[in-house]
Amino acid sequence: MATLIALLPGDGIGPDVTASARQVLDAVADRHGHEFAYREALVGGAAIDAVGNPLPGETIEACEAADAVLLGAVGGPKWSDPNATIRPEQGLLKLRSVLGVYANLRPVRIYPELAGASPLRPEILEGVDMIVVRELTGGIYFGKKTRTVDSASDLCEYSTGEIERIVRVAARLAEGRRGKLCSVDKANVLETSRLWRDVTNHLLAEEFPALDVETLLVDAAAMHLLSRPADFDVIVTENMFGDILTDEASMLAGSLGMLPSASLGDSRAGLYEPIHGSAPDIAGQGIANPCAAIASAAMMLRHSLDLEDEAADIEAAIAEAIAGGARTADIVADGETRVSTDEMTAEIIRCLP
Ligand code: NAD
Repeated sequence: MATLIALLPGDGIGPDVTASARQVLDAVADRHGHEFAYREALVGGAAIDAVGNPLPGETIEACEAADAVLLGAVGGPKWSDPNATIRPEQGLLKLRSVLGVYANLRPVRIYPELAGASPLRPEILEGVDMIVVRELTGGIYFGKKTRTVDSASDLCEYSTGEIERIVRVAARLAEGRRGKLCSVDKANVLETSRLWRDVTNHLLAEEFPALDVETLLVDAAAMHLLSRPADFDVIVTENMFGDILTDEASMLAGSLGMLPSASLGDSRAGLYEPIHGSAPDIAGQGIANPCAAIASAAMMLRHSLDLEDEAADIEAAIAEAIAGGARTADIVADGETRVSTDEMTAEIIRCLP
């Protein structure tokens, strides 16, 4: 039976970049002699317009039946009324919860030819290749909230089990990479961080003794990410610290259009999406950078479908297309020629081994 991928294009540039990812997936499948089947479904603003619900039951069904879910982006000015009770983002949050994805993986890799697009000096960026693993379903974002006229509180809670499962995901990733794991907490102040540190140290010593482990306080980690980013291999941290550090880390690469993400749980149907939004300012113009969506498809092959060779082929093809000078509008420098979404996609397919 063909592998089934749920394809959720969403809004804005989402449909353009997921169409590119699909073309690349088909090309790589063809080269390796297998086949992917797709089931397309509505999410976000497009789903609100069609059926009044940002995550219709039919979409949930398609995702639950699939081996993996590839999503474009949701949102846009049409649905951004702050007083609206139904909003596109609700679809994404609900989808993460339905799929039980608690580990958010964001790789940051610098393409040497694009180092000029980052605000950091090229020599600091040399060799940057890291994955930030963020806990996605616990901590302060999900704790009890209170509000009175003149005070408010947000409860931050973590259980041993929640910490263990995310640290295992990160440790396994580190084992398959350079063997380095950095755990980030705020154990000098927060009780949840002291539990995080105890559980992490114990688990890593018991189950992953060969890893080279570093522990950083989150404030120090924020500095080290900018002063020595190439030292990091895998970083693991809780929900709120991860939210902030992943955005900081994404700036190392310069453009949102290059960065993929994966959200994984215990089932195989992970959720894969570019880190960028629906980019309403360029939607419908055929100029969006499809690399982040295509690299997300590569992560899907690796983490949900056990197709490491195919994943590596796609990543190599993106790198080769960039090295060969293909530049969409977001990454083009003065004097370089810009290509459209379709031309970038075709170039990546041409570069597939
Ligand atoms: P955005 O990521 O959509 O865009 C930020 C800037 O980056 C824009 O100038 C855009 O043109 C550019 N950009 C983003 N992706 C690009 C690509 N692939 N190629 C070329 N340029 C690209 O963020 P925003 O403008 O803050 O948000 C727009 C909408 O997207 C909002 O409705 C927001 O809520 C939503 N959003 C959705 C997600 C998601 O679906 N996961 C994430 C972030 C924002």
